[in-house]
Amino acid sequence: MTLRQKIAAYRENEFKLVDAVQDFLEAIERDKVLNAYLYLSRDEAFRAAQNMDMLRASGSKLPPLAGIVLAVKDNIHIKNQPTTCASRILQSFIAPFSATVIDRLERAGALFIGKTNMDEFAMGSSGAFSAYGPTQNPCNPTKTPGGSSSGSAAAVAARLADAALGSDTGGSVRQPAAFTELVGLKPSYGRVSRYGLVAFASSLDQIGILSHSVEDSAVLLHEMAGYDLRDATCSAVKVPDYVPEMQKSVKNLRIGFVHDHIDMQTAILFKSLHTKISAAGVKIDDIELSFTDDAVAAYYIIASAEASSNLARFDGVRYGYRSDYFTSLDEMYIKTRSDGFGEEVRRRIFLGSYVLSKGYYDMYYRKAQQVRRLIRDELNRAFTEVDVLLMPTVSGPASSLDEKQDPLQMYISDRYTIPASLAGICAINIPYSANSASNPVGIQVLAPAFAEDHLFRVGRFIEECSESKSDAS
Ligand code: GLN
Repeated sequence: MTLRQKIAAYRENEFKLVDAVQDFLEAIERDKVLNAYLYLSRDEAFRAAQNMDMLRASGSKLPPLAGIVLAVKDNIHIKNQPTTCASRILQSFIAPFSATVIDRLERAGALFIGKTNMDEFAMGSSGAFSAYGPTQNPCNPTKTPGGSSSGSAAAVAARLADAALGSDTGGSVRQPAAFTELVGLKPSYGRVSRYGLVAFASSLDQIGILSHSVEDSAVLLHEMAGYDLRDATCSAVKVPDYVPEMQKSVKNLRIGFVHDHIDMQTAILFKSLHTKISAAGVKIDDIELSFTDDAVAAYYIIASAEASSNLARFDGVRYGYRSDYFTSLDEMYIKTRSDGFGEEVRRRIFLGSYVLSKGYYDMYYRKAQQVRRLIRDELNRAFTEVDVLLMPTVSGPASSLDEKQDPLQMYISDRYTIPASLAGICAINIPYSANSASNPVGIQVLAPAFAEDHLFRVGRFIEECSESKSDAS
């Protein structure tokens, strides 16, 4: 069932929301081994479900998302619930307010069932850097679901929620979506308010959506997007009605295929998609982009620099955990931060502080910003020739659960998702399989800033081209 079908079924009295919540909680309990959730909002979800069921019984008008149940990455605040960012340093932190997206979705009638596991502070590509243990991939129990929105991807793929919110700084929604056969949307920078999202790299962070279909993503984005006084980087650009936009034909769009660095298997898949798209009468161009390797280097300098500054606030005084063993103020800071943060977060803080330090700022940070500008210019140039770009989402399979993560390998694996993040444009992962015998792989569609409607149109078309296993059976 799509979200729209589920909402319609709820309006038709086909199920009670309290029963839906109960079913999800039982399924979450059965699938505990996935470690998808860090916190379950049992009481809050039942209360909200009861209220919605009563509203329906009274015959009042229902809000647009009444009937659906969402999971939320544990770096997005829901008032009076824990936000841990999967870090020990925030283990006892309770959010004093809700993120704007949570307020908006709640007002639209959606209900939240729990907070999902993730790489600590959203730094990672596998979920293995959670202080509360890794998440398992429901599509393949020996693998991770990717990251950093590992729990949100696993929750949706295993049907432990109707859809989920994640955050995407350099690929953390699109990449786990690719590994769990889901649609994963990273909206344009400024499309969705970041108020109430714990900052990792503020010039890159965006709240995104993990869902089973492009339509589900369009339905949710419509409720989440739009100007917010509380986030100075949130844009006032008008939010279109994405569902009718998505239904428009792709015929008059121009599509660019990016072929750089594509491996054999992906190339075969791309060829099949290419054939299907041109058979539909769509104009196709081949586009060359020169920057994928430089993008990774620039991203890790900029993201780490911003992270080192954003994470300075976790000092044992203002939030969460404080070490008990210290004899001076300096020692308190040092002990708190070295016990509270995991290895990868500490590595980013070191790297970020280094590239911002006197003497190195020009050599690394400023240079990375210049590279970022070149990447943005190159992408925008490409968008003068085509409306959307297609390229892979990931460069290889998901890592194994028992694999020791090599940081450099992990960073390089983000090569396809990082360019859109640096350029501030929007991008989406769509699962695509060339034939019903193969597992879907992730195709990434990129569009200019605020052209999410184009992503949805092309994404839906790729969905239609994809031969799913269920079609075959
Ligand atoms: N894997 C990237 C990183 O570790 C992206 C993370 C993200 O998008 N939150 O920084």
